[in-house]
Amino acid sequence: MDCLFCSIVNGDIPSKKIYEDDAVYAFYDIDPQAPFHAIIIPKTHISSANEINSENSFLIARVFEAAAKIAKENNLDSGYRIVNNCGNDGGQTVGHIHFHLLARRNLQWPPG
Ligand code: 5GP
Ligand code: ZN
Repeated sequence: MDCLFCSIVNGDIPSKKIYEDDAVYAFYDIDPQAPFHAIIIPKTHISSANEINSENSFLIARVFEAAAKIAKENNLDSGYRIVNNCGNDGGQTVGHIHFHLLARRNLQWPPG
C-alpha cells in the first residue's frame, strides 16, 4: 500500500522523531501551524477516524497516552490542542489517521 505515513513509520521517508513506542510514532509536521506542531500516529495503518472500531480503538487510546507523555516531556505546561481532520470537509490530506498536537501559541476558537 502506498501510504506517506506508513513510509515515515518504516523509515523510507525521513522525519524528525519526537516520540516512539511499540504502537505509536510522533514527528514534527513539515509545515508547522504553531511553534510546536507534532503529528502523532498509530504505527498500524488506519485510514481515518471513520475507520475506528472495536478492534483498533485501543490504538487511539495509545495515541492519547503518547500525547500526554509528549506534552510533559516538552514542557507544554500552558496547554495545547489535539486535532484530527477526517475526510474532505474535515481537511484530511493524508489517508493514515493522525492527530496534530499544536502548542506554544494562543490558539483561537472556533477554528476556521
Ligand atoms: P491533514 O491535513 O491530513 O490533517 O494533515 C497532514 C499533515 O501532514 C499536514 O499538516 C502536513 O504539513 C503534514 N505532512 C505532509 N507531508 C509530510 C511529510 O512528508 N513529512 C512531515 N513531517 N509532515 C508532512
Ligand atoms: Zn498508512
